[in-house]
Amino acid sequence: MRQPLLQLPTIKTMKYHSTNHQVPPATLKEAVLQGMAGDNGLYMPERIPRMSSQFLAALPYKTLPEIVERLATVLFGKDIPAAPLRDIVHEALNFEIPLVKVAKNRYCLELFHGPTMAFKDVGARFLARMMQYFTRNETVATNVLVATSGDTGGAVANGFLGVPGITVTVLYPKGRISRIQESQFTTLGQNICALEVNGTFDDCQRLVKQAFSDKELNARRKLTSANSINPARFIPQAFYYFWGYAQMPQGRDLVVAVPSGNFGNLTAGLLAKRMGLPVKRFIAANNANDVFGEYLRTAEFSPRPSIPTIANAMDVGNPSNFARIMDLYRGSHTRITANISGYAYTDAQIREEMKRTFDKTKYLLDPHGACASQALREYFETDFMANGFFLETAHPAKFKETVEAVLGRSIPIPGKLQAFMNGIKQTIGISNRYEDFKAFLW
Ligand SMILES: *Cc1c(COP(=O)(O)O)cnc(C)c1O
Repeated sequence: MRQPLLQLPTIKTMKYHSTNHQVPPATLKEAVLQGMAGDNGLYMPERIPRMSSQFLAALPYKTLPEIVERLATVLFGKDIPAAPLRDIVHEALNFEIPLVKVAKNRYCLELFHGPTMAFKDVGARFLARMMQYFTRNETVATNVLVATSGDTGGAVANGFLGVPGITVTVLYPKGRISRIQESQFTTLGQNICALEVNGTFDDCQRLVKQAFSDKELNARRKLTSANSINPARFIPQAFYYFWGYAQMPQGRDLVVAVPSGNFGNLTAGLLAKRMGLPVKRFIAANNANDVFGEYLRTAEFSPRPSIPTIANAMDVGNPSNFARIMDLYRGSHTRITANISGYAYTDAQIREEMKRTFDKTKYLLDPHGACASQALREYFETDFMANGFFLETAHPAKFKETVEAVLGRSIPIPGKLQAFMNGIKQTIGISNRYEDFKAFLW
């Protein structure tokens, strides 16, 4: 056989750096299995690839899986071969993400058609399958530990449901989460185990942290987290911004409003823009927790304890992905305010927006999407030539009591949510003492 004349260039994998820059860059596998960098920073791709103008021009003619396969290949294709990557994409996105027209210029990208009817399904399903790929040659099962105060448990548990080689243990505080939230991870069985902790959410978090730092336990069991800042949850969220753009009427400037808490979703949008997606401006929509809006106005970032609101998945006083935004813009307040606007609303304003939108258009908003819907309307008062979509991050029935009280009418629970409620609750009760949790994991 003839020797090739030229040595083929070795394919360099994409590296991920920590936003704190105190540890060496990691491979995708390392970043996904660690979740957070050793210096407590968040992982970011070292190079952000730019999509070609042909790809961008062809977006309106492509399907969601076609778009996502291409984007996933560009980002992950050097670390995961084509065939398994295609499977990951198709299994993760086994639901629709429709764009719905709500009013003139104002569209809604419905991200809530996944198993738990919240947008976190997208990131959790990608994470589960990427983790499965990276642990495929392990001989012992990987145990994902997750403490939840509500929705995360359901999204992670359903994301990992039936994924071979991985078990999930969800810890939740007894009597402190809603029945519908509880049912989303306590009725699943298979590789999902729910621990009802006689204590608070902080107790649950403490138990998980202690387990990760327990050398004796880690020598015996392979433990990992499904943290919300894991790059395999964060990066795939960039994909649906391209799909939103693809479904919009073309020809006008595009503005996108994002209901924000930890800002993972919005930062993924900024990543899409950096990859070439033509978005004129992003709008950070917040509830009374307006730390980011304050940063936009004053260039000062002052994290503080969160305030409870009716859009409670956004009750965050110290958004973790702020570090990623700083990283993307090299800390330049000028460049950040050139790309992002901020609007914040009180509970009364959120209720008003839900009611106004339903009365005028019959579109049912949940309290989180209502912040973004209102922000987009307010933005259009200054820029009426633009088109825009806002993200709807949860199905309104997930916040049934709030929505019904605002609209003064009952709303049906979709079959998918009802099915969880009809399932048989299977949980194991434990105390809040670490010895009990350790004995369970042993
Ligand atoms: C988690 C969540 C958000 C906030 O998303 P971030 O990425 O943390 O900004 C918004 N709405 C709903 C319904 C959520 O569950």
